[in-house]
Parts: sequence; C-alpha cells; structure tokens
Amino acid sequence: MSRIIHQLALNENHWPALPGVREALVDSLADINLTGDALAARLEQRLAADLGTTPDRVVAGAGSGALLQQFLAAHSGPGTSVVHAWPSFDLYPLLIRNAGAEPIAVPGDADGRQDFGALAEAVTDRTRVVLVCNPNNPTGEVLGARWLRSLLAALPQHVLVLVDEAYREFADPAVIADATTLSDDPRLAVVRTFSKSHGLIGLRVGYLTGAREVVAPLRLTAPFHRVPTVAQAAALAALDAGPRMREQCREIAAERDRVRAGLRELGFDVPPSGGNYLWVRLGERNQEFIAHLARHGVAVREVAGGVRVSTGLPEANDAVLAAARAFAGIPL
Ligand code: PMP
Repeated sequence: MSRIIHQLALNENHWPALPGVREALVDSLADINLTGDALAARLEQRLAADLGTTPDRVVAGAGSGALLQQFLAAHSGPGTSVVHAWPSFDLYPLLIRNAGAEPIAVPGDADGRQDFGALAEAVTDRTRVVLVCNPNNPTGEVLGARWLRSLLAALPQHVLVLVDEAYREFADPAVIADATTLSDDPRLAVVRTFSKSHGLIGLRVGYLTGAREVVAPLRLTAPFHRVPTVAQAAALAALDAGPRMREQCREIAAERDRVRAGLRELGFDVPPSGGNYLWVRLGERNQEFIAHLARHGVAVREVAGGVRVSTGLPEANDAVLAAARAFAGIPL
C-alpha cells in the first residue's frame, strides 16, 4: 500500500481555523473544571438571534449526527417509518433503524436527483418523518425553495420534514433553499452543523431549529450536557467570524468547481455539486479508480454507486487531477 497523503474521503474542511477560534478554545481551557453553561443556553440564544427566531425554537447538540438521532428518537420509533431519498447520506438508514423505525429509501432519477412526488408517494399512515439532505451527500444536488414547498404541499399533515443542511454554506445562496426562512409550516425542521463550514468537526457542535413543539422533545432526549463548554466557546467565536467563514466556503466551492471542470474535460461523469465534494460515476470502474487514487496518495471512497471525492487544499486537488489524467490514459 502506498502512503495516503491526501485524506479526501471524509468531507472534512482542510482550510485553516477561523480567526479567533483557537484563542477562544485556549481561553476556555481555564474553566474546564467548572460546569459552565451545561445547557448551551448562550449558544442557543446567539443562534436564535442570528436566525431571527426565539431560543425555544433552537436546540444545540453534539453535531448534526447526534441531533438526527435525537430527532428520530423523539419523532419516530418502533411501528413507524421514515422516508428518505437514495442515494443520500449513507448513515440515514442506520440511524433510522437505531431509532427502531423502518427506513424507506426512495430512488432518485437516473442522475440521482431527489423526486418530491416519489417521496410523498412512499409516505403511509405509519410514516412520521421525511428526511431531506440539501445539498445532498453524495450527489451534490441542491434543492431550491420551490422543490421544498412542493414536497410540503404533497405531504399529509402528520408527517414532519427534517432538512439536513450539513453542507449548505458551500452551495450558491441564490439557488439553495434556506429552510429556516422558507415558511412558518410547523412540519418543517432544519439541522445544521459546525463540522463542515466552520471546520469544527472534532468539537461536535450543531443545532436544530423548527416549531416549538418539534424542538421541545429533543431537549428530553439530549445528553446531560448538550455541548462541551470548550466547544461552545469555539462555536461562538466561529459565529463571530461569519464573513471569513463564508469567504472560505466560497474558496472551497471554487476549488470543487475547478476539480469538476478538470475531471469533465478528461471525460469523467461528474454532476454539479453544492457540497464540499464531488460524486464521480465510473460504473464498474469505481473500485479501480479508488485504488488508482490510493496509489497516488489520495484516499476517497465509494458512496452509493459513485466515487465521492472531497475538496481539499489546492495541492490535494491537483493530486486528484494528476491521478485522474493518468487514469484516463493521458500522459502528464
Ligand atoms: N449529515 C450529513 C449529510 C453528513 O454528511 C454528515 C457527516 N458526514 C452529518 C450529517 C453529520 O455530521 P456532524 O455530526 O459532524 O455534524
């Protein structure tokens, strides 16, 4: 095995820490012996203010993965089903089963695009939740406000829609729906994370916002301390660095589009992406391409029938393009 130099299998943010984050973390270390804000009330207040809503409509948690678990524990369970598109985040079926519910995967169209009509048709009396990933991981598809409104209109009143916006900051803000401002429909909830756009994956911070009655039960299934105090300090500092965060996400998106253009020039099938990754479809040659990239020091992985390539620093992306050129048989 050759040494992996560029880890591009995990959709991590490889950009430098946002200004003020390290300092806030170091300062917070002085108080690690103290309980502090165990319920993350200050963080929730700040998030609510930024979102233009009230703190009782925002719950902070240990990353969006933990919040997805809390949401499913509160709003689904044995005897119920949860509908989601496929391909989508490969942990959804596991998280749904862990909550005791039945996952119902609804195939997208030939390009993996999510179909709101098909999602609504898969709903039964037992369905409690429809999970929507926007931008979708791994396909990169970006859903607009019209799509989400159409989904809500097609669903019965007893079904909640949870939009997972883990990667929203990498998408074109003019195109992607902002589900937090979309409507006052009490069925619509949104989960977001500091793991990708803010580069804080190791600290585990996310939040979920929705109607009061949807959010309140999540506080009952929350861990005793919502978010470690050091992570709260870093998250608050990262929020203060909002303009730089958005700039970094634009830089990452520009790199993603550069890699896509290069791969397409070489003849690869790569749909447009609003995430910090691309989904390269090589059919039966997926594993061969993954092994080839590994020999060039790049780690990627197969997700739902395509090879998902995260966007790294320019040097890592250059390595992907050079390896892809060799794979396509064009001498360097
Ligand atoms: N949702 C999606 C679509 C993801 O890809 C991921 C992480 N890969 C998560 C949620 C969970 O992220 P975290 O728990 O770090 O917020």
